Amino acid sequence: MAKMTLREKLAILSDAAKYDASCASSGAPGRDSVKSKGIGSTEGSGICHAYAPDGRCISLLKILMTNFCVYDCAYCVNRSSSNVARARFSVEDVVALTMNFYRRNYIEGLFLSSGIIRSSDYTMEEMVRIARKLRLEENFSGYIHLKTIPDASSALIEEAGLFADRLSVNIELPTDATLEVFAPEKKPRDIRRSMGHLRAKIEEHRGEARDRHRPKRFAPGGQSTQMIVGADGTDDDAILGRSENLYGNYRLKRVYYSAFSPIPDASAKLPLAKPPLMREHRLYQADWLMRFYGFDRQEIVAAGEGGMLDLSIDPKLAWALKNRQSFPVDVNRADREMLLRVPGLGTRAVKRILSTRRHRTLRLDDVARLCQSIDKVRPFITALGWSPGRLTDRAGLREILVPKARMPAQLELF
Ligand code: SF4
Repeated sequence: MAKMTLREKLAILSDAAKYDASCASSGAPGRDSVKSKGIGSTEGSGICHAYAPDGRCISLLKILMTNFCVYDCAYCVNRSSSNVARARFSVEDVVALTMNFYRRNYIEGLFLSSGIIRSSDYTMEEMVRIARKLRLEENFSGYIHLKTIPDASSALIEEAGLFADRLSVNIELPTDATLEVFAPEKKPRDIRRSMGHLRAKIEEHRGEARDRHRPKRFAPGGQSTQMIVGADGTDDDAILGRSENLYGNYRLKRVYYSAFSPIPDASAKLPLAKPPLMREHRLYQADWLMRFYGFDRQEIVAAGEGGMLDLSIDPKLAWALKNRQSFPVDVNRADREMLLRVPGLGTRAVKRILSTRRHRTLRLDDVARLCQSIDKVRPFITALGWSPGRLTDRAGLREILVPKARMPAQLELF
């Protein structure tokens, strides 16, 4: 068999990595060396653009080290029984590619995952070698996100954390029961143990100063995970319940939701169609409401039907329409908690309202200047000279607002 070129390997291993959604770099500290280049970036095989919550677009080389895998997870295109073209990068290949792209300013970092070759420890060891070589031999100061193998040894995972900005362990599916059905070689216990271990190490090293011999503190960007949505029958309530548990118990920076993509020659246990992409969006919005807007999962899910979020409107508007007795809210008096519940007011708009109203009483026009779209806000507030009257109670309010409830480009546009 002819030897594959680096370009051919890149085509296969960047395509194989596209199913992983957990590569946004929010929460990781910026690096002066990256910012100072300022030339811009370009498109290319393996380069993904990830959006941080602040809207910053970052470019990552997103690849698998290999798509060979000894496991046979039913939902995965790279499972051992899958009939896909396979390739494998050497440690040197990944280092050379990363440095080449980085020096040309095509990328700001590397997102590296892998199928499991030989054993979990062997695979993890190779990934750590890549990160170590980049940091210590190439002085690479870009962002590194490593996807760790849950049952790899603790020593390897600890070493990975010394070189990576962020580590992640995929939870894969929302329940242990479905994980056991679809990925029998993966043990929920190992995934949890790995996350617990990462949490302990991240907390142990938090606030630590940089050390010349250890270029970075332990995974300063924290840990994240990815959950596949729609491969099993788990409803949104249970998915968000799992996220709540992950944020609470393991202090994750992010749970990424990835709508299941049907794969060739799939197991009969899997659905034939992908779930609506909007479901993924609504889960992200609900997740945001739980983490930054003070909502409980139960109240968000209760605004939908049968444990599922309403796909036609965002979960905050759905909650407001179900709880009309809580509105209108007086923008000149309401506390932060209540202002955050007003549809159309995001955290930044609420901050601006709170600071501006210290100096003057707000009119509707003032609020319009402080938020993204007053149309969505107007029925839910009172301001100097403005009252929505009975607008909030109007039966057709949902219909009036739905066409205007654009799908947010970013998740902060509530
Ligand atoms: S271990 Fe990872 S790469 Fe291997 S089959 Fe499972 S999900 Fe796919």
